[in-house]
Amino acid sequence: MGEAKTVAIIGAGPVGLAAAAHALERGLEPIVLEAGSNIGHSVRQWGHVQLFSPWDYNIDRAAARLLAATGWNAPDPERYPTGNELLERYLEPLATKTALATHIHTSSRVTDISRVGFDKLMTGGREAAPFEIRYQNGQGAKTVRADAVIDASGTWHSPNPAGANGLRAIGEKQAAERIAYGMPDVLGKERARYAGKTVAVLGAGHSAIGTLIDLAKLATQQPETRPIWLLRGNDPAKAFGGGANDKLAARGELGAAFAALVAADRIKVKSEFRVSHLAPDGPRLNVGTGAAGCGRHVVVDELIVATGFRPDLDFVRELRIALDPSIECPVALAPLIDPNEHSCGTVRPHGARELAQAEPGFYFAGMKSYGRAPTFLMLTGYEQVRSIAAAIAGDRAAAERVELVLPETGACNRSAASDADQCCGGPALSAVDGCCVADANAKQQGKTGCGCAS
Ligand SMILES: Cc1cc2nc3c(=O)[nH]c(=O)nc-3n(C[C@H](O)[C@H](O)[C@H](O)COP(=O)(O)OP(=O)(O)OC[C@H]3O[C@@H](n4cnc5c(N)ncnc54)[C@H](O)[C@@H]3O)c2cc1C
Repeated sequence: MGEAKTVAIIGAGPVGLAAAAHALERGLEPIVLEAGSNIGHSVRQWGHVQLFSPWDYNIDRAAARLLAATGWNAPDPERYPTGNELLERYLEPLATKTALATHIHTSSRVTDISRVGFDKLMTGGREAAPFEIRYQNGQGAKTVRADAVIDASGTWHSPNPAGANGLRAIGEKQAAERIAYGMPDVLGKERARYAGKTVAVLGAGHSAIGTLIDLAKLATQQPETRPIWLLRGNDPAKAFGGGANDKLAARGELGAAFAALVAADRIKVKSEFRVSHLAPDGPRLNVGTGAAGCGRHVVVDELIVATGFRPDLDFVRELRIALDPSIECPVALAPLIDPNEHSCGTVRPHGARELAQAEPGFYFAGMKSYGRAPTFLMLTGYEQVRSIAAAIAGDRAAAERVELVLPETGACNRSAASDADQCCGGPALSAVDGCCVADANAKQQGKTGCGCAS
């Protein structure tokens, strides 16, 4: 037998660690490089948030097998952990108590990847050359070689800016002191910053909704706290989700709780609010739309920008990567996750085939594989890395097999599909380009998609 193939895995988040577990099971040699001083560095930033998926959906099967051998006390599959619990009960024991421990290198930020002896332009013999991965670990630049690379570095560290055009709003950099990105812990660590303040939250995804619900809670304890919801679209109801139809009950409840707070006027809503300018207003912040001084504006104490994330593509620049021009995800994945087409957000499982690149042996996985699309679930990532590890190990049959049925968002059911088609009533077959039965049928008839949430 020859030496085990090495697989460099970038990022020790839930998906990177699952990738390492699958690689080990396949007899591969994983090398996990994590930028943070600890594993799960990104999850730690939102440790206060309760997940909308229960434990059953958050644990990778290969990781569970590794943990079982250590006498691990598996959490109740029906309970919903917080990010911190995900770390304490699952990711930390996985990284420290199992055979993965010796494969993980923390404080190791990957800065560049190429192939030994080949720049991007050179073709002949390229696929046989190992990857060369450069990283910084506090003692300067280091290099490691690997036969394959799985980039599971997530998108948490590159949030989208406030500007509606995708650029930083004019004045955004200068206003940095009054802006937070993502999901600050407004009821805990960051309470003093937000209590009693007028706080605008920009965005319409789960992060924005979760933060606004927390701010409304804060307002019951500190009544001068005023949450304002700034959304770019014209229909607030689109953010309320599938409610009781969502197969992930906690996700549905989050939307329903939010809808009730909006209806009760405990959260002020400003729709069609496309931020273009941020400017100081005494000690406060003027958040404006349109050309300077011409559009609508609100004056707030703090702005929380929760407009999603984008992948950091700098360190893969020397690799042959093809991405969808709008979503910035692998091209074959784009039709499955494009939020412009998939109103219901239910994504069918996929693996190595959809994630493969023109650079043989290189794969995006996890949150980063979705590029700018917002609907990623850990469970999807676990299926991705199961398939990728199989492909790297040369087991094509296992790589092609789909071993997962994803929970549906139920968002489509809100306004349609009470008929036999059951939009979001069942995922489309894996061979079909569609997120659900009705979506696949609509596409077969030449329409763009089921569009039933519109
Ligand atoms: C607030 C919030 C709530 C969520 N709730 C759920 C939920 O309930 N259920 C669900 O299924 N999904 C949820 N998600 C979506 C998703 O499953 C999580 O974001 C999950 O953490 C993604 O895992 P990942 O391993 O792909 O990426 P991450 O968890 O982001 O991990 C990536 C890792 O890579 C490291 N890294 C980054 N750059 C480099 C580099 N250059 N070199 C080395 N390391 C690097 C980071 O430090 C990080 O540790 C949620 C996301 C957020 C933000």
